[in-house]
Amino acid sequence: MTVRDNLALIRRQVEAACARVGRNPADVRIIAVTKYVDAARAQEVLHAGIGDLGENRSEQLLEKYEALGNRATWHFIGTLQSRKVKEVIDKVDYIHSLDRLSLAKEIEKRAARPVKCFVQVNVSGEATKHGLAPEETIPFIEQLRSFSRIEVVGLMTMAPHTDDEAVLRSCFRRLRVLKERVQEFGWAHAPCTELSMGMSNDYVIAVEEGATWIRIGSALVGSL
Ligand SMILES: *Cc1c(COP(=O)(O)O)cnc(C)c1O
Repeated sequence: MTVRDNLALIRRQVEAACARVGRNPADVRIIAVTKYVDAARAQEVLHAGIGDLGENRSEQLLEKYEALGNRATWHFIGTLQSRKVKEVIDKVDYIHSLDRLSLAKEIEKRAARPVKCFVQVNVSGEATKHGLAPEETIPFIEQLRSFSRIEVVGLMTMAPHTDDEAVLRSCFRRLRVLKERVQEFGWAHAPCTELSMGMSNDYVIAVEEGATWIRIGSALVGSL
């Protein structure tokens, strides 16, 4: 399947999901996760009309950036080691994996401009997953008030690996409720309007539960 064909299918699913819950499909943005594929395939994504690319490792992000530069909007979606921050910070537009103060401090130190960050939350509590516990999230975001280079644009989560729709739905719903609680504080540094949730196998449910950014890899670009 071409990227275009895959994209058409995903867009139809997103539109249908939005229609079911009364959302505007324009409020759901697709990030093409290109970690499985080479720069040529990533270029195909841009030609298909998706300008947002996501990578989860700094090496791969730098490699793709080398080829495509600022023709794409770059999303860092994986665990970010503090020592790698300086390599990627002037290339990425969004970081989806802010989950600790040491990382925030490194971003603050290295960034020349405010960086749009999602705070990653481990909603499901699985030991293998990164992210803050839900109850740690608000105190963490409050601590970022004095950071001039961090804008908390939203929350991000990875749902558990399961086909159980009820489990997935409850995970996404809890993230949305948490996001709404953050918004109620009205913090200037944390508008927190966005929800980064939903991947190839669960994006339909994520959209029904309010995702504004879905991160799609295999269903869009394949896993060559
Ligand atoms: C790989 C990855 C994705 C995309 O995964 P698919 O299941 O292939 O869509 C999304 N988010 C993160 C954080 C990832 O690492």
